[in-house]
Amino acid sequence: MNDVIRLARHAHHYLAVFDNGKPLALYHTKRLASSGQRIVLYAKDRGCSAPGCGVGGYYCEVHHVTDYAHCGTTGIDNLTFACGPHHRLLRPGGWTTRNRANGDTEWIPPPHLDRGQPRSNTMHHPEKLLRYLGEPEDGD
Ligand SMILES: [Zn+2]
Repeated sequence: MNDVIRLARHAHHYLAVFDNGKPLALYHTKRLASSGQRIVLYAKDRGCSAPGCGVGGYYCEVHHVTDYAHCGTTGIDNLTFACGPHHRLLRPGGWTTRNRANGDTEWIPPPHLDRGQPRSNTMHHPEKLLRYLGEPEDGD
């Protein structure tokens, strides 16, 4: 057991959560997102999650919705895509992000901009606009 602990000390630990073979989540202890987490973000965000931004996921950086310094983990439910210019807006006293209950990333401007009205990006998710107009979701 001592050898196992010694060997694992420098390892990067992963936790993958499955439900009957369906992947639900992938967590790891490194600050940087893994390639697997980036693939999940392509499916979830498709591109920069900042409101009105059309930059595709291939050109985006991975942002911790809750700052890594506060949470200390890089779980997929705490990650979102942000293009370089929008990622630089996310700093103390500037824009912030949080997760909505449906998993979408919400961007909150600083209070002096637009009264801090939070918003999300529908550029990469036109199907969500149809839902907002009253179309039933799949399976309804
Ligand atoms: Zn952007």
